[in-house]
Amino acid sequence: MENQTSDVEENKILPGTLIDSTEKIAQNLSSQRRRSVSYNQASLVELHIHLDGSFRHSTLFDLAQKKGLKLVNDMELTIENFLPYVCVKTVCTSLAEFLEKFPFFTPIVAGDVEALERVAYEFVEDQAIQGVLYTETRYSPHYLTADKLQPGEVIEAINCGLRRGMKEYDVDVRTILCCVRQNPEWSMEIVKLADQYRSAGVVAIDLAGDEHNYPIDPHIPAFKHAVELGIHRTIHAGETGSVESVRQAIELCHAERIGHGYTIVDDPLLYDYIRRNDIHIECCLTSSIQTNAIAKYIPVDSEKREKNFILNGQETKTRLHSHIRSKKEIWHPIHHFARDSLNFSLSCDDPSVSQITIEHEYEHALADLKLSPAQLAQCVFNAARSAFLTNTEKKLLVQRLVARYIPIGILQDHLHDTSI
Ligand SMILES: [Zn+2]
Repeated sequence: MENQTSDVEENKILPGTLIDSTEKIAQNLSSQRRRSVSYNQASLVELHIHLDGSFRHSTLFDLAQKKGLKLVNDMELTIENFLPYVCVKTVCTSLAEFLEKFPFFTPIVAGDVEALERVAYEFVEDQAIQGVLYTETRYSPHYLTADKLQPGEVIEAINCGLRRGMKEYDVDVRTILCCVRQNPEWSMEIVKLADQYRSAGVVAIDLAGDEHNYPIDPHIPAFKHAVELGIHRTIHAGETGSVESVRQAIELCHAERIGHGYTIVDDPLLYDYIRRNDIHIECCLTSSIQTNAIAKYIPVDSEKREKNFILNGQETKTRLHSHIRSKKEIWHPIHHFARDSLNFSLSCDDPSVSQITIEHEYEHALADLKLSPAQLAQCVFNAARSAFLTNTEKKLLVQRLVARYIPIGILQDHLHDTSI
């Protein structure tokens, strides 16, 4: 009877916590290494997910309690009082409201080697639960030092957690180090760190931060140096900034992939250049709505409706953001990308803040944007072929995906059919 009670307690899902603690799953898997824990075989690829925006709510709350975190006005530290500081409300109105969550929860983990290792390990576990086969996660080492660690020590702690996760779960993870628009003095060091930790899974650099108020210019030398060293480049551009920001990212900083890039629909010439050159666009559907990045494209007669989170096929009481419904077929730039077969994919961006999973993003695209299942499958393969892996590794990843998407009998029947 005692055991039954403790099982119920262990399985209790904290309000707002999308990913439950899976210690029991991990224990069960300890003798069966490299297993997928998703209900379906792992079959997704995610390229734009911030590790420092993917901390488990339950872990943040646990660490906050242990560290004696105080809430404003001496409010009692309960999960219900704590979560509104981490997640955006169902209706978030701006990028500023979205970004103001980070200074609250980042210090709970920053500067703490043990906490960094833990959140990195849990990130891999969470990706496995969601059926992700390959992921590239990004973070700013400087934001996670808290003036107690060196950026290299942050990278080593995170790598340690990722390695432990990858030993247990069937997920391959690479990392991208973020330069920050507001702090150009860090950018050259980021390139050096990316070079130094290349053999430890760091595959690229990114430029994140306030695109609207901080120009790209002071970061150009660092990105040029990355080109010289053969380090891959992706840049947040065309999210809340102008289409010019995307052009600069490609022309001045030699970005191979663009984070968000929605504003390219405003410039047919640049749009066509990106399509012809197969430049990958990392789209994040929910965050684009929450940050108001795509507000100007939404028709005035659109409806917003609230949705609850579905876990294991059951609707939970956890409320998600508002989904947008429109009678107009094309209202999100992703529609244009899909119609014109641009090289784009779907990712979560900051799931801790948005309260989403990658499965939810695919469901959202299917149900509310009316993308077809074939277009969604293309997203997965687009991500795989645009990953910052070697050609051999990419080929292997695509092969693994093909085996998951196409029944083996059909593959064999058509392999030798040269008419296709
Ligand atoms: Zn991002």
